[in-house]
Amino acid sequence: MSQFAGCCRLIWNKSLAIQKEKLDSKEKFLKYTELAKSLTESKQEQTFLKDVHSQTLQQTLKQLDRALKDAFNKKSPKKFPVFKKKGLKDSFTYPQGFKIDQENSRVFLPKIGWVRYRNSKKVPGTAKNLTISKSCGKWYVSIQVELEIEDKKHASESRIGIDVGIAKFATMSDGEDVEPLNSFRKLEKKLAFLQKKLSRKKKFSSNWKKQKEKISKLHNKIANVRKDFLHKTTYKISKNHAMVVMEDLKVSNMSKSAKGTIENKGKNVKAKSGLNKSILDQGWFEFRRQLEYKLKWRGGHLELVDPKHTSQKCSNCSHTEKENRNSQSKLECKQCGHSENADVNAAKNILAAGHAVFACGGSDISHPLKQEPAENAQASVCA
Ligand SMILES: [Zn+2]
Repeated sequence: MSQFAGCCRLIWNKSLAIQKEKLDSKEKFLKYTELAKSLTESKQEQTFLKDVHSQTLQQTLKQLDRALKDAFNKKSPKKFPVFKKKGLKDSFTYPQGFKIDQENSRVFLPKIGWVRYRNSKKVPGTAKNLTISKSCGKWYVSIQVELEIEDKKHASESRIGIDVGIAKFATMSDGEDVEPLNSFRKLEKKLAFLQKKLSRKKKFSSNWKKQKEKISKLHNKIANVRKDFLHKTTYKISKNHAMVVMEDLKVSNMSKSAKGTIENKGKNVKAKSGLNKSILDQGWFEFRRQLEYKLKWRGGHLELVDPKHTSQKCSNCSHTEKENRNSQSKLECKQCGHSENADVNAAKNILAAGHAVFACGGSDISHPLKQEPAENAQASVCA
């Protein structure tokens, strides 16, 4: 499998280099069919490529072709593809020819043979392709399937607003909250310790490699703990509520803003970078992404609203002023005297904003991964 992944990496890098040359000399990219032709030539020069299932190599070229097209997509350009390094995201994909024997927990990989795997869940529908990848010394198989899904109606009619934060990972408009999981913070000390040890070892020595392995295992653990937390949390929320409203926060912008510019160094850089760390720790972006698709699966939906004033507005009388938030943890309304936990108050405002958008036929920012600003949606509310 390492050999297969290695050959796919070689073909990726070689073809990417060709395409980059084309780009530099302002010529058109080679088409997929032309790249496939050059693959045949490569096989004659480097005969070891013949040991690898040819369709996995062709699939690599298709993936590169896709990546280049995505990079030049005018509407939502993605990152330009990069050269692959050994040991990082080793993988290869079979577009066909594989077999899945779920009863016996094994897959047939052409030119490799039957391989046993741990069957984590039943594979539904028709398998379209199969990818083998390596992460932290373990090989994984993922199967892309095609299946018909009927439009579902969500079993619940509940609607809820969610305010995300540092002290509490999430606070809901009904007063419920989710405690944060600072998985990174807890394991950070251990990581720092391991890294210090690494720095004392001779680079590329066998002890250094062993230490490096330990560190990557810990990174993997942190990622898994976080993933598990997010999946459990979003599962519960998407099951209990048909409509979820959240603020349209730009996580990437928030984490960038702390650095500031050279002339105008951001205020509270230290405090802010602490906040950023928490933001990234908490994985709000991933939280939102999971919520969106899980709600969709059940026939519910996620609504995003403009985050303006949600923390200063009184959810009781709508009076909005800075002084409402003289206390960090509480909202105390200067007009009606209403007093409430600040996060719950914000969550209620978020829900109300979501209702307003929904009543006007839904927002055009219902897709949280889109990068457009949220202002338009709010401006159209009840115009
Ligand atoms: Zn009030």
